[in-house]
Amino acid sequence: MASDRMLQFVEREQSYPDKRSAEQRAHDFREIAERYAAPDADAQAARCSQCGVPYCSVHCPLHNHIPDWLRLTAEGRLREAYELSNATSTMPEICGRICPQDRLCEGNCVIEFSGHGAVTIGSVEKYITDTAWAEGWVEPLHPGAATGQSVGIIGAGPAGLTAAEYLRAAGHEVHVYDRHDRAGGLLTYGIPGFKLEKDVVMRRIDRLVAGGIHFHLGFAVGEDATLDALRQKHDAILIATGVYKAREIKVPGNTADGVIAALDYLIASNRKSFGDAVPAFDDGRLDARDKHVVVIGGGDTAMDCVRTAVRQGAKSVKCLYRRDRENMPGSQREVTNAEEEGVEFVWLSAPESFTADKHVKEVAVAGMRLGAPDASGRRSPEADPGRQFDVPADMVIKALGFDPEELPHLFGSPDLSVTRWGTLRVDHQTMMTSLPGVFAAGDIVRGASLVVWGIRDGRDVSDQMAKWLKAKAKSEKKAA
Ligand code: FAD
Ligand code: SF4
Ligand code: SF4
Repeated sequence: MASDRMLQFVEREQSYPDKRSAEQRAHDFREIAERYAAPDADAQAARCSQCGVPYCSVHCPLHNHIPDWLRLTAEGRLREAYELSNATSTMPEICGRICPQDRLCEGNCVIEFSGHGAVTIGSVEKYITDTAWAEGWVEPLHPGAATGQSVGIIGAGPAGLTAAEYLRAAGHEVHVYDRHDRAGGLLTYGIPGFKLEKDVVMRRIDRLVAGGIHFHLGFAVGEDATLDALRQKHDAILIATGVYKAREIKVPGNTADGVIAALDYLIASNRKSFGDAVPAFDDGRLDARDKHVVVIGGGDTAMDCVRTAVRQGAKSVKCLYRRDRENMPGSQREVTNAEEEGVEFVWLSAPESFTADKHVKEVAVAGMRLGAPDASGRRSPEADPGRQFDVPADMVIKALGFDPEELPHLFGSPDLSVTRWGTLRVDHQTMMTSLPGVFAAGDIVRGASLVVWGIRDGRDVSDQMAKWLKAKAKSEKKAA
């Protein structure tokens, strides 16, 4: 039954934590939102109407117990709220920061539909677990009774880390291999600090290390070992390598100096936030300072690039996207944040060529218009012959999305089956690939997706792997 503290959505207005001013935040990589103070979080949680069928939870990929932890927060029972929130997620404070809530939990809150403004679920979720960290309520990872079985996980992004945590808790020996020198996947080297500060990610990884998970960093499967070699070493394998083959823009001049790939640019910037020496940044190639920057694309990666360029001190930052604002894939909240920070969006525009004398100096742009809807119902862009113009550019960042790398070839495993999109083919019930005992999860199965789906897949695949390992142990015992 709803406690009498709840259902305050009529008299209490929706209020997100304040954002720092655009002027302030353009000079650093700190998160842009302030954190709730306790009374504000309690008051906002109390706006929830405690729906019998909570659409917020239905549309949360983790099916978090949202109304229950909102009620506990409103009642000041924060530790219980944390325990409940932690029961379904390995990283609630990270999801609270970077889930596109407007498309998931908050976008489906009934209060939003009744015109009162959704409950600020993500901000409360972040507040609950940030408080748990500050109060010391986040328990160390306790490994279960040792099973004597070992698991190898390739990829230390949200999917791999989530599976590692649950499998370790189930008593398995867990080894995580990643080609980067730090764990976290795109949480560490893709997503910038102004959305997700790095110490928030690192404290999660430190906890996994302290829980006995072995990390083999700077270890590229395909170069430092074949998949087969890892299969010999471990009882089961999880492939959670994400998608990293950047889509190309096939126009003249796309290899000129100054035309760079989004992830190279973001990785360099994130490394600088860790204090690393990055020669290609330090010599100016990946630094937007004093440059006219043009970013091509309309997804989350493009949004992260334009906002990073602002913080690096670019002279101007423009984003070219071939559809309009309503039809872009990136989050509307991020577009608003970028506009506040001085980014100019040039909608319905696509590059025709990059003009360069060795180094890029201009983008020739073709105007676009939206034609008839395609098979998916989305209106396809087509050239608008009446609009053509040039945009000055000292740096062009290509942010058109990512496809999977060719894993069967890279891993030396031709029997690893892939779909026509290059993603790994898995049995959707068992999450096992075409190779016995080799499972897969996260973006490498779904294609480029979201952190919260990586966590969900990591949770599901760890259940499937645990079942499979149990059956393996049983059959080995029988055979012995
Ligand atoms: P990843 O996070 O990509 O991790 C895969 C790991 O595997 C990496 O660490 C990689 O180094 C490692 N690896 C790959 N190949 C090998 C190999 N051969 N050997 C060893 N290791 C290997 N999602 C959101 O929900 N919110 C956001 O705001 C958001 N912003 C984003 C911004 C950017 C710039 C990008 C690119 C993505 C963003 N996403 C966002 C998407 C989200 O980051 C991904 O969906 C999520 O990280 C996928 O998790 P994963 O574990 O499958 O893979
Ligand atoms: Fe919302 Fe994401 Fe949290 Fe689910 S995990 S409640 S979708 S912010
Ligand atoms: Fe509360 Fe909104 Fe979820 Fe209903 S949909 S339980 S009002 S947060």
